[in-house]
Amino acid sequence: MAIFDPKTKVIAGYQRSIDEKNRVIAKYYDQIGRLYYGQYKDMSVDVTKDINARCEAVSELYNEIKDCELKILFEKGLKLCPNCGKENMLAYAFCFACGAKFEAGSESAPGAVKTEKPEEKVEAVAETKAEEAPSEPEVKEETSEASEAEENKAE
Ligand SMILES: [Zn+2]
Repeated sequence: MAIFDPKTKVIAGYQRSIDEKNRVIAKYYDQIGRLYYGQYKDMSVDVTKDINARCEAVSELYNEIKDCELKILFEKGLKLCPNCGKENMLAYAFCFACGAKFEAGSESAPGAVKTEKPEEKVEAVAETKAEEAPSEPEVKEETSEASEAEENKAE
């Protein structure tokens, strides 16, 4: 099955980016758990700052994932109603579900979310990092990507 629509490629790229961010989030959760446990074992150690830095990084990643999801929708010719969250065609001026008016320009590509570079905050407490850099995400079969993107979109 060869669906070499350039859009499919772009969507698969965003999907890979989302997968990668989710992997980083899982790593942060792991670190948060270890930090918290370390504090539980030795109450004299205050790692609240380290934990908070990772929580902020996780929040930022979730924002970036949302941004990727919006871009995937855009590639599919859809946008989300800011009021009810329903998917609408890009051209719609009003939400078909709740009637909310879309802002002018809502039919153009979603802009990138502004990032506060949470990575730097996390780097500052890097000495608690046990593992080294995450391994390269494994490259998936070309054919599975499109269907995977579909599945994830349905969530
Ligand atoms: Zn709506």
